[in-house]
Amino acid sequence: MKVVEPKVFLVGETRVHEGGLQAYLEHIGVASWGTDAPSDVERLTEVMGRLCYRSFEPGLNPNVKRVRQGNAKYLENIIRVRHGSVLEHGVMNFIFADVSRVVTHELVRHRAGTAISQESLRFVRLEELSVYAPTQIRESEEGMEVFVRTIEQLEELQRTLAEIYGIEDEQEFDAKKKLTSAFRRVAPIGVATTIGWSCNIRALRHVVEMRTDPHAEEEIRLLFGKVFDLVRERYPNLFGDYEVETVDGLPWVKTACGKV
Ligand SMILES: Cc1cc2nc3c(=O)[nH]c(=O)nc-3n(C[C@H](O)[C@H](O)[C@H](O)COP(=O)(O)OP(=O)(O)OC[C@H]3O[C@@H](n4cnc5c(N)ncnc54)[C@H](O)[C@@H]3O)c2cc1C
Repeated sequence: MKVVEPKVFLVGETRVHEGGLQAYLEHIGVASWGTDAPSDVERLTEVMGRLCYRSFEPGLNPNVKRVRQGNAKYLENIIRVRHGSVLEHGVMNFIFADVSRVVTHELVRHRAGTAISQESLRFVRLEELSVYAPTQIRESEEGMEVFVRTIEQLEELQRTLAEIYGIEDEQEFDAKKKLTSAFRRVAPIGVATTIGWSCNIRALRHVVEMRTDPHAEEEIRLLFGKVFDLVRERYPNLFGDYEVETVDGLPWVKTACGKV
């Protein structure tokens, strides 16, 4: 068995199509418009917001005499007034590896603005079991001993079942799939696996808030603490309103502008 911690891989994110954006800006008569957005996600979010009122520059919409200058100020206002739908345009694609089925069960409850691809334990046969050891287990020598022994026994059980049913010699993939699915039933819910998780920025803000809250479970708090560190650095103007307090050694990420 192996003790592991959740890992976050950012594998994709929204990109601006320069030619298309420029053509649109020329179409509405502001060909020289530009912004100081630090990323494409923040630039695209600003464009989608500004097009609502044509607030690219004063007078473009005769009703608009002043506009907020700069990406940071613009997005800060969008978040403050909770125009959250504008934040749905930017999308991020993550792979979370070495996360337990505890975490994936919790994560898939977030449906709005997300897309999910989960490693299939009907197809992928378990051999070595990797698990996250929660604080209470880690802090007790006796508890850790029972924890490790149990996981090792369950690992051994996977090997025993594989031998009994001769899965190595099985030629039919369908038969292997049925056996693999039967064997996984005696794997622990703590078994580490992989999930691909894509989300828009609005959904991500909500999930970061809910899943770093001290009431959330330890492993998912650890995971979303890591996600938050990554996105705050990458998109400072979309996550700049958050404050971080450490509770039980993990970040609690909170804001006055929750659930935009
Ligand atoms: C600390 C904690 C403990 C929990 N304990 C339990 C538990 O014991 N049992 C349990 O079953 N679950 C539990 N959950 C899961 C929780 O009930 C939610 O299912 C989960 O957090 C998903 O959040 P969400 O409902 O905001 O959905 P999301 O999909 O993240 O949706 C975001 C928002 O969009 C809106 N929305 C989404 N879908 C709909 C819809 N169909 N109709 C209308 N509006 C919608 C809502 O405003 C929602 O808040 C827990 C969650 C946390 C954080």
